[in-house]
Amino acid sequence: MNERETLKINQLGHLEIGGADCVELAQKFGTPLYVFDEAYIRKMMATYRDTLKKHYEDNGLVLYASKAFSCKAIYRIADEENIGVDVVSGGELYTALQAGFPAERIYMHGNNKLDYEIGEALDAGIGCIVADAYSEIDKIDAEAKKRGIRQKILLRINPGVEAHTHAFVQTATTDSKFGFSISDGTAEKITAYAMTKENVCLEGYHCHIGSQIFEKQSFVLAVEKCMDFAAAMKEKLSFTLKTLNLGGGFGIWYTDEDRKIPPEGYAEYLEALISAVKSKASEKGLELPYLLLEPGRSIIGEAGVTLYTVGAIKDIPGVKKYIAVDGGMFDNPRYALYQSKYTPILANRADEENTEIVSIAGKCCESGDLIAVNVALPKAESGDILAVLSTGAYNYSMAMNYNRNKIPPCVLVNEGQAEYIVRPQSYEDIARNDVVPQRLQKKTK
Ligand SMILES: *Cc1c(COP(=O)(O)O)cnc(C)c1O
Repeated sequence: MNERETLKINQLGHLEIGGADCVELAQKFGTPLYVFDEAYIRKMMATYRDTLKKHYEDNGLVLYASKAFSCKAIYRIADEENIGVDVVSGGELYTALQAGFPAERIYMHGNNKLDYEIGEALDAGIGCIVADAYSEIDKIDAEAKKRGIRQKILLRINPGVEAHTHAFVQTATTDSKFGFSISDGTAEKITAYAMTKENVCLEGYHCHIGSQIFEKQSFVLAVEKCMDFAAAMKEKLSFTLKTLNLGGGFGIWYTDEDRKIPPEGYAEYLEALISAVKSKASEKGLELPYLLLEPGRSIIGEAGVTLYTVGAIKDIPGVKKYIAVDGGMFDNPRYALYQSKYTPILANRADEENTEIVSIAGKCCESGDLIAVNVALPKAESGDILAVLSTGAYNYSMAMNYNRNKIPPCVLVNEGQAEYIVRPQSYEDIARNDVVPQRLQKKTK
């Protein structure tokens, strides 16, 4: 097993996260269960925040990309760490506001923000909206006018850098529902358009080149393209770049195919971005922009594990051995969506050698309901506690009630003590909004 900051194996041979024994957590809270290590989350937030402070004169803000994991407690932690957040829907905005998160440090994203979401954002007085359509600029302008304000916006642009986990490519035309392309002139056109709007204040640009990226060079290239573009817009349109938002996307460890980066190691990614911004600014004679960064996965991903109980085991000779757990695609749809890879371990026998290759199956009525395929484990038995590592990002946030399974609760571990941050669902919760029309109601004779 990888030596990880947040995980260790204790004297009982049990997996620990943030100082809490996973077997005890499973007994106390039941399974399936999402567990988060608060210390890891805070350390990641602080690493990004302090790197901006140290290497960029604090002239910027780290925004936690809350779509990775959104609930009230995580917004409280982000607030206490003095960072900002980005939200991508009215629901995330509502949750952040309910948690008392300061509106001026909230940024709003989305390729198709609904009219009421824009209204809610303006009513709340959020810091900035990242616009991604002409119609959106019109709407923001009109809503801002009604309220007698000028709303700050950024424009989402496409620098033509497409990054994937282990490689990146430069593309002339970008086929994406997000952003406006620099190379085909559409980013320039929308810049000119936004500048004509009286109740919109165009502060700068946003780009996000992808996710689970380890190549520093792909981020640096995107920065260079954005800065070159800003210089061109200064020349052509007398536009002054005040803010540059570089999005998220830093990769994390899921399996030993990925690089393992300690929390402090992520500072290097930000430092590389900062030095690219600085050198381009001086080359092009631009002021240093206020710098924003939106890490999601790298803040919360490795901070989380999911605990399951092993149930049915099915050995199909010469084909596969399936280990079924009490969760599945309803708590982690990422294998079904993108064949994402994960590392499972037996939390109650974490010190044992792996002896067989198995596949972890969920309990949904769907053959593709798998958590991991062909992974190494000790010989698992019914009743073992199975931990799947690095499930903090895009697991709970993507969970669903398929088959009317209950979305598992979340607990937060702090100095070895765990408490709920999302309570368990009940069957009543699942059926709460169901309505039986009068004519279908069961007749009592
Ligand atoms: C998803 C997303 C992020 C976060 O990406 P991670 O890979 O989780 O760091 C940041 N910004 C935008 C606009 C996104 O869509």
